[in-house]
Amino acid sequence: MPVYEITDKVRGLMPGVIADLEELISIPSVAFPGYPAEPVERMAQRTLELVREAGFADARLMDVPWGYPPIYGEIPGPPGSPTVVLYAHYDVQPAPESQGWTSEPFTPTRKDDGRIYGRGASDDKSGIATHLGTLRALEGNPPCTLRIILEGMEETESNLEEFVEAHPDLFDCDLFLITDMGNLEVGEPVLTTALRGDVSCTVTVRTLEHPLHSGVFGGPAPDAMMALARLLSSLVDDAGDVAVEGVTGGVWDGGDVRESDFRASADLLPGVSLTGTGSVGDRLWGKPSINAIGVDITSIDASSNVLHPEASAKVSMRIVPGSEPEEELAALVRHLETHAPWGAQVEVTPAKAAPGFVCATDGPAVAAAREAMAEAFGRPVGEAGCGGSIPLLRTLQSVAPEAEFVLWGPEDVAGSRIHASDESVDPEEIERMVVAQVLLLQKLGG
Ligand SMILES: [Zn+2]
Repeated sequence: MPVYEITDKVRGLMPGVIADLEELISIPSVAFPGYPAEPVERMAQRTLELVREAGFADARLMDVPWGYPPIYGEIPGPPGSPTVVLYAHYDVQPAPESQGWTSEPFTPTRKDDGRIYGRGASDDKSGIATHLGTLRALEGNPPCTLRIILEGMEETESNLEEFVEAHPDLFDCDLFLITDMGNLEVGEPVLTTALRGDVSCTVTVRTLEHPLHSGVFGGPAPDAMMALARLLSSLVDDAGDVAVEGVTGGVWDGGDVRESDFRASADLLPGVSLTGTGSVGDRLWGKPSINAIGVDITSIDASSNVLHPEASAKVSMRIVPGSEPEEELAALVRHLETHAPWGAQVEVTPAKAAPGFVCATDGPAVAAAREAMAEAFGRPVGEAGCGGSIPLLRTLQSVAPEAEFVLWGPEDVAGSRIHASDESVDPEEIERMVVAQVLLLQKLGG
């Protein structure tokens, strides 16, 4: 099929694809502990029906030792054609009222800007919709062998890595098509080629044997909270760049994010400046970042005129794609152990060392994806990084070391607000991504 025929065909299919997306948004498939199982199970069932209707006649819910089941199916392509694994996930983040939604999160809502709002509209029910549209455009008869894996626990403790390790044969393929990403801006196509890793630790600072009266001892006797604050502040310089010796940094030479777009999507308060130096792309994907994500100390309500002997914080560091997490974490721990003021005692407990991911971009499938995307969007394709780390990608790589990865999707960074209030998707972006996926599969099938 030539491009204009695919474009026409997909346009005709979009009302149905969007209706299905809206139905899926209305099912609150939050797989987190403490949330009801029924909607997640209903979501799995309904998604399974749609996937079967779209051509994966043998699709089924797979057995897993714990948690919600992944959906898996296969359509054999012409003999000798390559094998492509389509990935998306059917679970979503919670949407608590405290996030400040302006429309009901589980009622799909079309607003004046043309976007569809609701939890999961983007992340990642739009990925499922994109796969459904692709299958329908191909009338269930793809030019490659297709396998589909739709995960049910991506947003919480995932069971999919275990599943992949237990069934490596199901994931033997030439290309993983991970449709759980997006362009930096709607209509401006990018391939996601690098994901940051994530390390963390807790640090406890001790200065005294026991609490002391602040009037009697304050002055000469150091309190642990002030010592901890100074230790934490030593992790970054005045501009907010990471100041830890031995941590890997660099520059990002792919697509950039405009500062104004970044500010808008981050909802910075008036007068608050961005931290760090270099382009926003450098700061997101070329350099590490450090944040204190939790503190244990007496609460204000319970406070009295007392010097505290002990205070703790959890420190999280996002690491540069391709760097070694154990080495980066070791550098962070070393800094914390050696930079406390006033001889305060420091104890650091490592918590997590998750690697990032770098996609090879020189293979034939990635080249085909770049062409397909450029034709679908009518413009050249850039490269972007992604802040989230997806450990699953490493596991997929270990069971199919020769396979290429294409990471893309309709979740635009500027507008989608994934995981936050008022998550949304642009339906035209889904349409362009369906066209891109159809074109890609055609190119791969020769
Ligand atoms: Zn996602």
